[in-house]
Amino acid sequence: MLEAAHRYFHDAASVLGLTERLREILVTPRRVVKVEIVTENDEGDLIHHIGFRVQHNNTRGPYKGGLRYHPSMDEDHASALANLMTWKTAIVDVPFGGAKGGIDCDPHEMSITELDRVTRKFVEGIKEVIGPMQDIPAPDVNTNSEVMAWIMDEYSSHYGFAPGVVTGKPVHLFGSLGRDEATGRGVMYALREALKDQGKTLADITVAMQGFGNVGSHAARLIAEQGGKLVAVADHLGAVSNDDGLEVPALVEWTAEHRTVDGFPGGEPFKGADVITWPCDVLIPAALEDAITKENAADVRATIIVEGANGPTTPEANDILNKRGVTIVPDILANAGGVTVSYFEWAQNIQQFQWELERINAELEKKMVRAYADVRDVAKEKSIDFRTASFVLGIRRVGRAALSRQPTRKKISFE
Ligand code: NAD
Repeated sequence: MLEAAHRYFHDAASVLGLTERLREILVTPRRVVKVEIVTENDEGDLIHHIGFRVQHNNTRGPYKGGLRYHPSMDEDHASALANLMTWKTAIVDVPFGGAKGGIDCDPHEMSITELDRVTRKFVEGIKEVIGPMQDIPAPDVNTNSEVMAWIMDEYSSHYGFAPGVVTGKPVHLFGSLGRDEATGRGVMYALREALKDQGKTLADITVAMQGFGNVGSHAARLIAEQGGKLVAVADHLGAVSNDDGLEVPALVEWTAEHRTVDGFPGGEPFKGADVITWPCDVLIPAALEDAITKENAADVRATIIVEGANGPTTPEANDILNKRGVTIVPDILANAGGVTVSYFEWAQNIQQFQWELERINAELEKKMVRAYADVRDVAKEKSIDFRTASFVLGIRRVGRAALSRQPTRKKISFE
């Protein structure tokens, strides 16, 4: 994952002609915090976990990025994801830098009280380096609004009322309307813009999707509402397909109850790994990283891939797909809707004023459409693919801001 993030960064850095020295400065995280989390489980036994917070770059504003609770969480993972956040916040032009973190635990194996204790211990360990003007975590894989509420509560118990310390909170506790579906909504807007470039609309397409959690389920619902057909979906426990289009609201309801798409009666089961090569117009990986690899990239049948997940395509697969002319709308553009509405939530917390849902969705749409157009302009200007263009745009914005903050006699250009 870290390797992939660096490869894509260096591709863009080469387009911009950046020196080795400058690359090293831009790619190295400013701070890596690693904390030992020792708590008790419900039986009273000691449990150990490691928590991470990697703060990559804060040139354009406070650090910003999600918290992931997953057994695979480690420093490399957090660093790679933090790196992506820096360019992502710049691409959608929200006033934040990039960070990421999490805990190497599996919430599926934990009770709610165990999860609460582990979360609070983690906050105790990182409380000096987070804050509304310093670093603002948010939900990611296996964390949700409930966990964000505990973080706000724990942080506030040390420093006083501070709703702006995290985003993705429950709406009734200083959260924002529309935050829950924001990433999925942003994926839908990004896909809609990519289709426009090909003279198509959402009503013209069939979609295969990997992952049906927060990002996937909302994206699927919004695409289906505009006539798109979800023909196949896989999660970590099962997969289901229907050539006539799965009934998305019913599938959402099924998943809420069963915590998996497996067994959904409105379609046929199939082997989950096949979703990547399913016959369809659009593939949306919305689960974890490394879903599209050199082993399956040549067999991908979609002509557009919209990366809902972070890092779903390995560099080898990326090269194969580019050669085949498949359009990839990369993660740092496609899934930036979440951080965009996180920014709106943070702004509302600071203003102590709640925005209406219509305003949030309209502002999100504007940000996503503008970001897509800006990336497309760079892709045209430099004759490069969308992923490299997204990195070029992100690095350019961070670089320009850095030069304005601190003049240098060296001749540096991000053009
Ligand atoms: P989630 O936990 O809500 O859902 C994850 C989904 O992926 C689940 O359906 C799960 O079953 C599925 N999954 C996990 N492992 C799988 C496997 N091996 N094969 C098939 N399916 C698998 O997580 P989420 O918030 O929807 O995040 C998904 C991705 O989107 C992550 O890469 C995350 O970093 C990224 N992302 C999330 C947000 C956000 O706002 N939630 C924002 C930006 C990016």
